[in-house]
Amino acid sequence: MTENDSAVVLDGNAAGGLLQDIFAVEITSAQIQCETCGSSGAVGALRLYAAPMGAVLRCTCCDAILMRAVHTPHGRWLELTGARYLRFA
Ligand SMILES: [Zn+2]
Repeated sequence: MTENDSAVVLDGNAAGGLLQDIFAVEITSAQIQCETCGSSGAVGALRLYAAPMGAVLRCTCCDAILMRAVHTPHGRWLELTGARYLRFA
């Protein structure tokens, strides 16, 4: 039996309260870890490349892209492909 065998399976709405708690905090103080080099630090310490199309935040150690954020007519987009995790204190 694996850990997942005993998990209760619900839809994403059931995680709404937890996710609301996470995304309601100050994001710049959250810790982020780079998927490429493994370094971690505060989101606010990342290197920002601001452009008319949005924001690109890069790792200060290896320059990998950790976050991309943009506001379009179709919504607000956040990509975290380059991050291993975000940790909120
Ligand atoms: Zn890195």
